[in-house]
Amino acid sequence: MITNEDIVKLIAKGDYSRLGIELGLSIGRENKLCQLISDLKEDGDRFASVMAWKGETGHWYCDGCNNNGEYEEDIQHASDCPITLHAKLYAKIEKAGI
Ligand SMILES: [Zn+2]
Repeated sequence: MITNEDIVKLIAKGDYSRLGIELGLSIGRENKLCQLISDLKEDGDRFASVMAWKGETGHWYCDGCNNNGEYEEDIQHASDCPITLHAKLYAKIEKAGI
């Protein structure tokens, strides 16, 4: 990954062809990374969607933390529940603009 210092050095040397190559590689890696993060978000959503289930009584239960609620949205997930951790990671990714 090219650093700002590397960019300054290449500009100072007038090596614009190398600068173009490095920036192109950097953008390519960034695009791949964004795609992988997007794929991981989708995977996390799929896993999270199967962790809560409706019992015979009509109450909803979470396999991640064993908490329950009348409706799925009512479940107060524990701080270490995978659904809570996924939501926190998702918020971080969204905040980063990815
Ligand atoms: Zn939970």
